[in-house]
Amino acid sequence: MSAPDSPYPTSVLATLRHDLRTPLNHIMGYSEMLLEDLERSGPGEIRSGLESIRSTARQLLALIQNALSPGRPSITDSDVRALRRALAKPLNRIIRDASALVQHSPDSLVPDLLKIGQAAIALLSLTEETVASQPARIPTPVLGDRPAATGHLLIVDDNEMNRDVLARQLQRQGFTSKSIEDGETALRELRQHRYDLVLLDVMMPGLDGSQVLERMKSDDSTREIPVLMVSALDELDSVVRCIQIGADDYLFKPFDPILLRARIDSLLERKRLRDLEKRRTEELEATVAQLQTVERELRESNQELERFAGAVSHDLQEPLRTITSYIQLLQRQLQGRLDERAEEFIGYAVDAARRMTNLIDGLLDYAHASSGKHQAAAIDAGKALREAVDNLGAAITESGATVQHDQLPTIVADPVQLARLFQNLVGNAIKYRRADVAPAIRVSTERQPDGWLFAVRDNGIGIEQKYLPRIFGLFQRLHGQNRAGAGVGLATCQRIVERMGGRIWPESEPGVGSTFYFTVPDQAPVA
Ligand code: ADP
Repeated sequence: MSAPDSPYPTSVLATLRHDLRTPLNHIMGYSEMLLEDLERSGPGEIRSGLESIRSTARQLLALIQNALSPGRPSITDSDVRALRRALAKPLNRIIRDASALVQHSPDSLVPDLLKIGQAAIALLSLTEETVASQPARIPTPVLGDRPAATGHLLIVDDNEMNRDVLARQLQRQGFTSKSIEDGETALRELRQHRYDLVLLDVMMPGLDGSQVLERMKSDDSTREIPVLMVSALDELDSVVRCIQIGADDYLFKPFDPILLRARIDSLLERKRLRDLEKRRTEELEATVAQLQTVERELRESNQELERFAGAVSHDLQEPLRTITSYIQLLQRQLQGRLDERAEEFIGYAVDAARRMTNLIDGLLDYAHASSGKHQAAAIDAGKALREAVDNLGAAITESGATVQHDQLPTIVADPVQLARLFQNLVGNAIKYRRADVAPAIRVSTERQPDGWLFAVRDNGIGIEQKYLPRIFGLFQRLHGQNRAGAGVGLATCQRIVERMGGRIWPESEPGVGSTFYFTVPDQAPVA
C-alpha cells in the first residue's frame, strides 16, 4: 500500500479502477434490465425504486470519474480516502433500496435484485480497503420494439456476472449465446462449433483478449469469425492493439443496449455479405471448372467423331466407286434393251451413288479441315481464289455467274484450306441463286488493326434471319430439296476459319442476297 500522500502508481490505479468498476457495471446492468421488463407491466413503486438505484449508480460513476480521472496529475492516498467516504453513503443507499425491493417484488425479480445488492456490498467492501476511478457513462436509452435478431454469439469473459448481464441482454435482443470464462476453452469451442460473432473481454487472466484474438486470426477455422472487443474505457491501448490484430469493433463497459445491438447488427450484416460473396465466388469457380471440363470433353468427343467420320468416309469411298462403276457399266451395256421403268430405276441408283460420293467427299474435307495438318504460310489470297474459281468452272459457265474481286492481300494461311473456303462460299453463292438472275459475286477485303476482313457477297435467294444461327451446323440444310449438297460445306468453312484464328458470320436478306464475312488475323494461332 502507498504511504500517506505519496502518489499512486498508474498500474495500481488501473487495476483498482477495473476492480471497482466491475460491481458498479453489474448494478447498472441488472437495474436496467429489470426496468425494461417493468416498463410494460411492473408496479410503479418497484419501478421508482429501481430508478433510484440506477441514478445512484450513475452518481457513483460521476464521483469516481471526478476523483480518479486518469487525466489528473497525481492521485494520493488522501484523495482515495476522501473518495471512500463519499462512496460509502450512496452504496449503503443502494443496498437498502435493493433489500426493500426484495421484500415487495414478485419472485421473478428477486434473483436479480439480490445480485444488485451483492454487487453493492462487494463494492462497499472494496472501498473500505482502497478506491479506484470510473469514467462517467452514457445514459442508457431504453430499447423500443426492434425486429427479432438472429445469430449465435460466444461471450468470453472471466467475470461471471459480466457474462450473465451480457448473455441476458443478448437474449432479450433475440440472439442466442454461449458464455465461456477463459481464452483456451473459448478457442476450443470456436474450433468445434459454428458462431456468428465473438464478444471478447480484453482483460482476462490466462490468455487475455489480444492473445485469444491472435490465435483466432492464425487459425483458418476461426479467422473469419467477427470479433467485438469488450473493454473498460481506460483499456483503450489494449483495444487499439486488438483492432490492429484484426478485431472488427469494440464496446466499452457498462454497455448501452442500443449501441450493443447496433454494433452486433452491423457486424453480422458484414459477415453475411462476406459469406455471400465467398459463396458466390466459390459457386462461380465451380461453374467455370465444370464448364472447362465439359468443353474439354466436348472437344475430345468432337475430335473422336471427326477421326471416325474421316476413317469411315475413306473406307466407304472404295466400295462406292465399285458400285457406281458397275451400275454405269450395266447402264451402258443394257442401253436400248431395257424398258423405260428399268432405265428410270438405274437413273435413280446412279444419282443416289453420286450424292453419296458428294457426301463422303464433303465429310473428308470436313475431317481434314478439323483435324488434318494445316500448313500456315504467307500466301497470296488472290491465288487461292483463282484456284477456287477454276474448280468451279463448269458451274460458273452453266449459271452465267460473274466473280469479281478486290486486289486481294497476302495473308498467313494454309493455301489448300483457303482455296477450299473460297470454293465453298463461291460455290454456295452460285448454288443458291435466284431463278432467272445470273449470280453476281464479289469478294472484297478490308484492312483491320490486327488482320484482314474478307466478304463474299452474292445476289442469291438469301437466308431468313431466324435460320442464320443454324447454318454452320453439320448437315444443316435450308434449301436442300432441289440443289445438290450434303450440309457440310459451311461447317467445313467454319472449321477452316477457326483454325486460322478468325471468325465467320453471315448477313443476309431473303430475295436480295447474302454476304459471308470472315477474318484472318496477321498472327496465326499456335497449332
Ligand atoms: P449445302 O450447300 O451442302 O446444303 P452448306 O453447309 O454449304 O451445305 O450450307 C448450309 C445451308 O445454308 C444450305 O443448305 C443453304 O440452305 C444455306 N446457304 C449456304 N450458303 C448460302 C447462300 N450463299 N445463299 C443462300 N443460302 C445459303
